[in-house]
Amino acid sequence: MSTRRDYSPMTYSHSQGDAFPEDGLVLGIESSCDEMAAAVLRGGREIVSSSVHGQESVHSPYGGVVPELASRDHVRVVSNVVSAALSEAGLGLSDLDGLAVTAGPGLVGSLLVGLSFAKALAYANDLPFVGVHHLVGHLVAAEVAGKGDGDVAGDDLAPPYVGLVVSGGHTALYRVGVEGLPVLLGETRDDAAGEAFDKVAKLLGLPYPGGPAISKLAEQGDPTAVNFPRPMSKRPGFDFSYSGLKTAVSVELAKRGGLAALSPSERADMAASFEAAVAESLVGRASRAMRAEGAARIAVVGGVAANGRLRKEMHAAGARDGFEAIFPPMNLCTDNAVMIAAAGTRLLSRGVRDGLDLEAFSRVPIGESPWREQEKGRESGAGQEPVGATS
Ligand code: ADP
Ligand code: MG
Repeated sequence: MSTRRDYSPMTYSHSQGDAFPEDGLVLGIESSCDEMAAAVLRGGREIVSSSVHGQESVHSPYGGVVPELASRDHVRVVSNVVSAALSEAGLGLSDLDGLAVTAGPGLVGSLLVGLSFAKALAYANDLPFVGVHHLVGHLVAAEVAGKGDGDVAGDDLAPPYVGLVVSGGHTALYRVGVEGLPVLLGETRDDAAGEAFDKVAKLLGLPYPGGPAISKLAEQGDPTAVNFPRPMSKRPGFDFSYSGLKTAVSVELAKRGGLAALSPSERADMAASFEAAVAESLVGRASRAMRAEGAARIAVVGGVAANGRLRKEMHAAGARDGFEAIFPPMNLCTDNAVMIAAAGTRLLSRGVRDGLDLEAFSRVPIGESPWREQEKGRESGAGQEPVGATS
């Protein structure tokens, strides 16, 4: 007589409201775009390990992320990246208390790889798990004590604060309150700031990703050489816009006879002047939001927060206007799994749990978790995803 195990999801039951240990060990998995990352976090703030596998060499020949290639590379490395995070932590799966995984927004093919892997791990090891909003992850990164090279340690950061998410796919300002969801104050009307860096880098013949390449070249240039427009500076409100700035760079380039006609120093001047325009516009909008909100702290997160000029100018604005700017360490600015484990821990601690039918979502407004709302109904509040720590 053969014995059969019951593999139906019914054997996996972690329900909403279950208690979670205060110093719980959470494995985070992130694969929303072109990074596969895994990390272990203790108590929602202490980084035990972090492993990130980037795909620059996969996408750089194309000057941008090719979604199909991104998912294929994720499938190839997911198991190794998770193993690396666990072995760096000196832990086995049985030591974990929970799992957190990015459920959206992002490239669906990419998201599905991390998500499916996390679901399998949760099921096989009977671990509670939650799907995390990628941008909530970016915001919470500022609340994690970094071992890295951050210029201000954010380990005592807790709401309320203003959050500026500035990355390849997003540029937006949020009010992060003690209670409830982050509130959108303003966002880009067209391109994200990181996207502008990437597009302008392409115009200037620089490799992908464009941000680091422009910033390196800009060090040798004169930021006042070309007076590029400061987008939206005369408009009220907190929205951003970067596609006009990109066009201004392309027009200036054409006026000078194209890239081939530029001397190395002119090229560096273009990079520096563009970088200065982006930094000034971000700082200008952020300062205005800080004044309007009467906030004491701003957390600047996402890939573009790695930019040296932006950091310097935001700190200078803070010193002038009386607010403190918190930047996560560089390694927590770009996509990573520490931030997913951190946001996940905050949810798990609140008793939030997801089921094995969790799906990936390409577009999700911040704070919303349609994967949870679908199942439980909005009125329960189970789908709400506040940012900060409970304590
Ligand atoms: P997303 O997940 O939205 O693609 P990330 O948070 O991974 O974004 O950040 C990637 C973006 O950050 C890219 O657009 C890249 O050009 C930009 N970036 C990275 N480092 C820098 C830098 N030093 N200066 C400006 N932009 C940067
Ligand atoms: Mg990102």
